[in-house]
Amino acid sequence: MKDLPILQTNVSLKEYNWWKVGGEAQFFVEPESPEQVIDCLKWAEANGHAYTVLGDGSNCLISDQGISGLTISTKKLNGILREQEQDGQYLIECLAGTPKMQVMRLFLKKKLTPALFLSGLPGQVGGGIYMNAGVREKREPREFCQIVKSFKVVDEKTLSIKTYSHSDIEWSYRKTSGWGPGIIVSCELGWENTPDPEVPKMVVEANKLRKSKQPLEFPSGGSTFKNPSTEQSAGLLIDQAGLKGFKVGDAQVSEKHANFIINLGQATAKDVWSVIKHVKEMVLKTSGIELQTEVIRKGFTD
Ligand SMILES: Cc1cc2nc3c(=O)[nH]c(=O)nc-3n(C[C@H](O)[C@H](O)[C@H](O)COP(=O)(O)OP(=O)(O)OC[C@H]3O[C@@H](n4cnc5c(N)ncnc54)[C@H](O)[C@@H]3O)c2cc1C
Repeated sequence: MKDLPILQTNVSLKEYNWWKVGGEAQFFVEPESPEQVIDCLKWAEANGHAYTVLGDGSNCLISDQGISGLTISTKKLNGILREQEQDGQYLIECLAGTPKMQVMRLFLKKKLTPALFLSGLPGQVGGGIYMNAGVREKREPREFCQIVKSFKVVDEKTLSIKTYSHSDIEWSYRKTSGWGPGIIVSCELGWENTPDPEVPKMVVEANKLRKSKQPLEFPSGGSTFKNPSTEQSAGLLIDQAGLKGFKVGDAQVSEKHANFIINLGQATAKDVWSVIKHVKEMVLKTSGIELQTEVIRKGFTD
């Protein structure tokens, strides 16, 4: 059995997700390099454990029973590797655990429009690629798929690093496929290097708007459900079903934004999941539309 020096046991995951709920990771590691990610996967395989990846946990609901096997947090897999202007493009290479905000600041410094959709998007770059994170507003660009040139993955089967270019990947609404399975360890992002002097002002305005619309004063997982289509908003359907303020324990459908389920203080993952199930049921009843969750459950067995 290969030793894993960075291994911890029974680590509370409450501080590793934005809802601030959930139990413990049976085994827990925070690798700092792609090579350490390979060691983690080798350890999991040698010891017969499943592995779970957590980015910043801003889109994850973690079970109250915690996560068995090895939880790999990419928080320390963090850093800008290269930043350059080349052939009319501005390019950034970074590790997957780099906060989106850090990348946003680089685009902002150059007055480039990716800063706009990235501002206010929580989480890390790897999670952004996995989810093809983006905004609903008509911005250019508005989703990760528009700024990702390529990314590197530790393949869970071969335990080697594979590079995927933009065109290898199927990008869809809050989903990517055609890569892995494995762990994204780094990526190259880029955008046309044409500064727009209005960008800094627009970022300030976008942040103001976001703060006025979203209940950012409470822990949450952001938008709980995917919008059923570009014309239909999940939040509006939930509101129309009369569910704003609906509560189980300390988990509540936000009064400010019905697609957000907020933790009023002591919510459990079970409370949040009960609210999610009720909302799905009621929206189906009132509109005939079956909402799909955007948030991803980790550690649940049902
Ligand atoms: C207040 C708030 C507002 C939000 N607003 C938006 C929004 O406007 N638009 C939007 O799209 N999303 C939004 N979100 C959701 C979330 O921020 C994004 O989906 C984000 O990209 C997730 O990144 P993360 O690092 O937190 O990933 P996590 O939540 O940790 O993980 C998400 C999924 O990606 C996988 N994953 C993460 N990193 C890796 C990796 N390196 N390799 C392989 N798999 C990985 C995880 O296993 C998990 O399945 C919001 C969330 C909150 C809390």
